Amino acid sequence: MNIHEYQGKEILRQYGVAVPNGKVAFTVEEAVEAAKTLNSNVWVVKAQIHAGGRGKAGGVKVAKSLEEVKQYAEELLGKTLVTHQTGPEGKEVKRLLIEEGCDIKKEYYIGLVLDRAISRVVMMASEEGGTEIEEVAARTPEKIFKEVIDPAVGLQPFQARRLAYKINIPNELVNKAVQFMMGLYNAYIDKDCSIAEINPLVVTGDGNVMALDAKLNFDSNALYRHKDVEALRDLDEEDPKEIEASKYDLSYIALDGNIGCMVNGAGLAMATMDIIKYYGGEPANFLDVGGGATAEKVTEAFKIILSDPNVKGIFVNIFGGIMRCDVIATGVVEAAKQVGLKVPLVVRLEGTNVELGKKILAESDIEIVAAESMADGAEKIVSLVR
Ligand code: ADP
Ligand code: MG
Repeated sequence: MNIHEYQGKEILRQYGVAVPNGKVAFTVEEAVEAAKTLNSNVWVVKAQIHAGGRGKAGGVKVAKSLEEVKQYAEELLGKTLVTHQTGPEGKEVKRLLIEEGCDIKKEYYIGLVLDRAISRVVMMASEEGGTEIEEVAARTPEKIFKEVIDPAVGLQPFQARRLAYKINIPNELVNKAVQFMMGLYNAYIDKDCSIAEINPLVVTGDGNVMALDAKLNFDSNALYRHKDVEALRDLDEEDPKEIEASKYDLSYIALDGNIGCMVNGAGLAMATMDIIKYYGGEPANFLDVGGGATAEKVTEAFKIILSDPNVKGIFVNIFGGIMRCDVIATGVVEAAKQVGLKVPLVVRLEGTNVELGKKILAESDIEIVAAESMADGAEKIVSLVR
């Protein structure tokens, strides 16, 4: 789960990580009020969306007067911001962060991620802050330094110090940088983050080390023990299809392709996406209806797939183990009846009650292309969509 920058900064503050003073605003009036309460004569008006790259896209404005704060707030609120992370459709700005302008001397990068290959959290740091770290990694990987963290003892001060020296934090500020990194690491572990990225981390004119940006992502499977974090979820920022799917406990991820997939089991769902790609198609989603799905759940899943205007064909690929094929068939028929099916449908059923499932499909009046195997089904749906 993702949260907004201002929320991330609030969490970091609790862990002793220095961030500029700031306030969230939902309206132009609130933006001006927020600026008045901040002890500053330069403010930064920052669009709050779940995507980076806002600076380059005009979503971060420096205001030198309250009139300018008002003007920028008017400009940004309600605007659709297109950054390199939002996709071409962009994201509507509904919240702003009004923040004290900071006297930046130099921008750095600090990030924490879980390296799955070594099963350890890794802290990364670079002197090349402000720019996209992906670009630095691609062009000048030697400018990114890493410390692998032992989970038994956590980030050690000597590791933080080593990073601070490698990225050339001024000597007199190394202790502050170490304190910053230790706080960031504690927040990451305590809150079960999957990513914590500070880009830029800055050294200021008055000798501080601060987070000017904050991107925190959380492990969704750990949210049950962080009600405070869960409360920060902003449904406006999420795909409506994914929200609908989560109501029915379906594992659904929207993708860019045009072949809707309904599959049971995450492994089979991955394999189905692979085989669609193998035959030259593009999956429109990942969907695992789960082991013990009811006909109602299958109906909802099918409706969610059909609500995606990009879907030009559907491939149902079910192995009935715990899941029974007749339940899937009933759900498919019910959903097709409720919403009408205007795209080709290929079904591959195998396993428990497969004969009954096929019978239900055959006796319905929906047009179905039967597949003999997974490969056969993938090949058929790809050619039908073409
Ligand atoms: P994004 O990563 O989405 O572009 P950032 O929060 O990193 O957004 O802001 C982009 C740039 O704007 C920063 O690299 C920094 O130079 C400037 N900036 C952001 N916040 C402030 C601030 N409070 N004071 C001064 N400059 C800022
Ligand atoms: Mg940034």
